[in-house]
Amino acid sequence: MIQTQSSGPIIVCDICGKRITDAKMALAVMPNSKKYQNGNGRVLHVHKESCQAEVDEQEGTDELTRHIRHLITNVNLTLKELEEEDRIDRDFDI
Ligand SMILES: [Zn+2]
Repeated sequence: MIQTQSSGPIIVCDICGKRITDAKMALAVMPNSKKYQNGNGRVLHVHKESCQAEVDEQEGTDELTRHIRHLITNVNLTLKELEEEDRIDRDFDI
């Protein structure tokens, strides 16, 4: 799940409750069952290996890195725009 701290949003593992600090070592879990096919399914975020064993094998998984990239695309942001936002934040020490 995504939570907010004073430093900004973070992703917390929905299984162990600890912060996910390495996107390459985490998965997004999308419900596969028919009841979620209307697009209302909640996405879980879990650590690979240590926590993914707790996820129902029927659920679909995706690399967290790819999931975040798709999310950025679906809100019509480009990597160039993100880099510009980052530059502005650094310039203003945000
Ligand atoms: Zn975990």
